[in-house]
Amino acid sequence: MRKRLVYLLAAFVLVVSGTVTIAVVASPEAAADECFTWNRNLSQGASGADVTQLQIRVAGWAASGENISLDGAFGPATTNAVKRFQAGYGLGADGVAGPATFNKIYELQDGDCTPIHFAYSEFDDNCGANNFNGGKVSAATAKENIRRIMWQLEAMRKKMGDRPLNVTSAFRSVACNSSVGGSATSLHMYGQAADLGLSNPPQCTMWNSGKTAGFEELLGPGYPGHNDHVHVGNKASRFWSAPNC
Ligand code: ZN
Repeated sequence: MRKRLVYLLAAFVLVVSGTVTIAVVASPEAAADECFTWNRNLSQGASGADVTQLQIRVAGWAASGENISLDGAFGPATTNAVKRFQAGYGLGADGVAGPATFNKIYELQDGDCTPIHFAYSEFDDNCGANNFNGGKVSAATAKENIRRIMWQLEAMRKKMGDRPLNVTSAFRSVACNSSVGGSATSLHMYGQAADLGLSNPPQCTMWNSGKTAGFEELLGPGYPGHNDHVHVGNKASRFWSAPNC
C-alpha cells in the first residue's frame, strides 16, 4: 500500500508539471502492492513465478470441472480463466494480464496476498489453536494451500452476486480432525478444504458454484454428514456428491 501511494504521488507531480501522465498511469508498476508486484504483461506462452502468482488469483475462474494448475506455465486454461476473471469484473476480456487486470487484483488483495473478503484467522485450526501446525503437511504448505482456496472462494462469492461466505471449518491438525469426527484421509489436514456454513446462499447454489471455482471435491446436501454445510476441496481426482441438489 505504501508503494502505491508513492506512485500516485509521482503521477500527481507529473500532472502539476504538465508532462506526460498517461505513461505513468498505464505502467504495471503504477499500482505496486506490498505483497507481490507484476512487472510485465502476461499472456499465453509466458512462464515464471509471476505466472504462478497470477494462476493462484484466477484459479476460481475455471471452466466447469476444470482445475487450473499452478505450474507457472501460461497455457490455454490460464488464458480462459483470465478472460473470465476480466469479464467478471467488467474489464476487457482479452486473456492478457496487463495493468487493468493487475490493478484489479491489487484492489482485491490484502498486504498478506490473501483476498480482501477472507483472512487466515477464519481458516486456521478449527479447534482453537489459531495456527496451521500439526497437520499432514508443514504449516507453511498448509497456509499456502489455504491461500489458494481463499482466492477460489473470492471468485465464488463474486459469481454468486457478492454474497458473503461463512467459513465454519478449514485447516485442522490431525488431533483436531479426529476430535471433530473428520475422515482419516480428510483434506482438512492438508489445508486443502473448507466448509461453508448455510447462513446466506442456498446450499445447492453454493455446491453448484463450486464446480466452476476449480474444486475437485464438493460435498453437499444428501451426502452423509453434509446437510448443514458445503465442503469444498482441492485434490487430483474429482468427487462431487450432493444427492439432494
Ligand atoms: Zn469438510
